[in-house]
Amino acid sequence: MDLFEYQGKQYFARYGIPVSAGDIADTVEQALAVAQRVGYPVVIKAQVKVGGRGKAGGVKLAANADEAALHAGNILGLDIKGHVVHRLWVEHASDIAREYYASFTLDRPNKVHLGMLSSQGGVEIETVAVESPDAIALLAIDPVVGLDVATARRWVAEAGLDEGARAGAADLLVALYRCYTEGDCDLAEVNPLIYTPDGRVHALDAKVTLDDNAAYRHPEWEEFRATETEDPREQMARAKGLNYIGLSGSVGIIANGAGLAMSTLDVVNQVGGSAANFLDIGGGADAGVMAAAMEVINHDPSVRAIFVNIFGGITRVDEVARGVLEALGRVEIAAPIVLRLDGTNAEEGRAILAPYLSDRLLTEPTMLDAARHAVALAKN
Ligand code: GDP
Ligand code: MN
Repeated sequence: MDLFEYQGKQYFARYGIPVSAGDIADTVEQALAVAQRVGYPVVIKAQVKVGGRGKAGGVKLAANADEAALHAGNILGLDIKGHVVHRLWVEHASDIAREYYASFTLDRPNKVHLGMLSSQGGVEIETVAVESPDAIALLAIDPVVGLDVATARRWVAEAGLDEGARAGAADLLVALYRCYTEGDCDLAEVNPLIYTPDGRVHALDAKVTLDDNAAYRHPEWEEFRATETEDPREQMARAKGLNYIGLSGSVGIIANGAGLAMSTLDVVNQVGGSAANFLDIGGGADAGVMAAAMEVINHDPSVRAIFVNIFGGITRVDEVARGVLEALGRVEIAAPIVLRLDGTNAEEGRAILAPYLSDRLLTEPTMLDAARHAVALAKN
């Protein structure tokens, strides 16, 4: 789960990471009240879960109430890369001497935590990585050993942070690492991490992704969950009890078993297509589940073809076939359907569907054939 900046900052604050005094506001009036409280000058920031808000006009400084009202009014309702701003974060503006970058994330192949630190913050780190990769100091952290202050001090020196910023930055990095590990983040990123003219180091932005697998030990995450704007497709799937993840391609996928569903995505990719979703109807799925799956996929306007990939084990293929017919009877399915049916009761399943086959409902003997056919239809 991704957090809004304000939630990330609140999370940071729990671990003693210095952030500016501020509060959220959903209206111009609220923004003015917060500004009054934290003191001018203030910075008014769009709360949307997307980067580059500054460049898009979603971050503005205001020296007085008139400017604050103007900017708050302009930013509320602004569309930033498809995300409409409904909430602002207003904080006391900081003076900036230098902008740095710091983050922790997981380096899966090497089974370590990866710290990234750069004296060239404020801009997108991807740009720094391309244009001056040497400006990013990487630190591999053994999760058993963790990050101590001595290591952090060597690291800030290696990254070339200004001398005066190093002690404060090292302390902040140790706190950020604790937030990242104990706070169960997949990503904790600060960009910019600022060095102020009066010698302090603090977090001016917060990008936090929480590890959903750790949600069971964080009941306090419920408040973050409450503000999540879920993908409407995922919302519908969850209401139907389906194991669904929305993706950005055009081939709708229905498979039984997470492994087969993932392989199905791979095969669709391999033959030049892209999946609109992951959907695992699970073992022992009956006709009702199959029909529900078809309805969810059908609801997605980007789906141009549906690939149903079933290997019957506990799931019986005849049940799946009945589910397809049930769905076809219940709703008008917009996209053509390609089925690959194999395993338990495959013969019976194919026999059930045989009278209904057309150029909108097809079967293929193998997973690869079915993927090719579905991708070709999706591109049509
Ligand atoms: P992003 O563009 O979505 O990453 O939003 P940020 O929170 O990183 O803000 C973008 C830029 O606005 C920062 O890199 C700063 O240059 C500037 N900015 C944000 N807050 C302040 C502030 O308190 N004072 C000043 N002077 N600039 C700020
Ligand atoms: Mn930023």
